[in-house]
Amino acid sequence: MNVQLKSNLIFLSILLLCTLVLLNMGLYITHTLYGLQYTWGIFNCLLKITIEFSQLHFLFHIGSFILIIYTFLRVCIRIFKQITLTLKWNRYFNENEHSLSSKHIKAKYSHSNSEICVIEHPGFIALTIGIFKPRIILSTFVLTQFDEQEIEAIILHEQYHFKNYDPLKVFLVTLILDAINYIPIIKILVHHYKICKELMADQYAISKMNSSFGLSKALLKINRIKKNIPVSIGIGFTNSTMNFRIKQILEPENLVYFPFDYIKPLIKSFIIFALMSLVFIG
Ligand SMILES: [Zn+2]
Repeated sequence: MNVQLKSNLIFLSILLLCTLVLLNMGLYITHTLYGLQYTWGIFNCLLKITIEFSQLHFLFHIGSFILIIYTFLRVCIRIFKQITLTLKWNRYFNENEHSLSSKHIKAKYSHSNSEICVIEHPGFIALTIGIFKPRIILSTFVLTQFDEQEIEAIILHEQYHFKNYDPLKVFLVTLILDAINYIPIIKILVHHYKICKELMADQYAISKMNSSFGLSKALLKINRIKKNIPVSIGIGFTNSTMNFRIKQILEPENLVYFPFDYIKPLIKSFIIFALMSLVFIG
């Protein structure tokens, strides 16, 4: 299975899981608040099962209520964090923009139609930031310490994220992970989604340059850099997926393997969801 297909399947699975959980919560809320009767929905099915046992029934109501409040709070916290961090880092990037270098890089890569901003900074920063209006941020360190080929590979990699609105997609899956992190499979799905995105960005850079030489040199150099600045927002060029990316370059003929053995548990989860909803019809 190629990386593009894997990535789409994972993204779809994350959205489906989230929709199922939210739908069930919605059914439970409307049932509890407005007394609407449903013949399906996990919460409502469990309410029906426990109706004979008043204490268990009450405990189930309390548990459901806590779970819904917890989910809602986690979503609010993540959105609040995202807004404050975006404002903080945008202010920092704007204040430290190196106008001359920005103009130079923009002119050089004008054909790509991507927004690039170079900031004055002594450490390695290369990332794509911005949910609705993405832009690529590079530090002056990248322009002075890396050669032409390496810089081009880094910019092309980030351009992939820029063109595909990856900051928005990664924010969305992270928001879902935060909201329903009590569903075990979601964590691994999100992690694998991020790996796919990085591998695809590297593939894009390699295909545009017709060679993996520039990118591999850049990755090796980055591994030796001590001044790697952790920017807690956007999609950074360096992150926990480095091993997979190096493997992709070293073994281009092989598809990078990361365990995809959660397909079975995923299918089981969906079947359980569906069965529990259907069993109680009527
Ligand atoms: Zn990336």
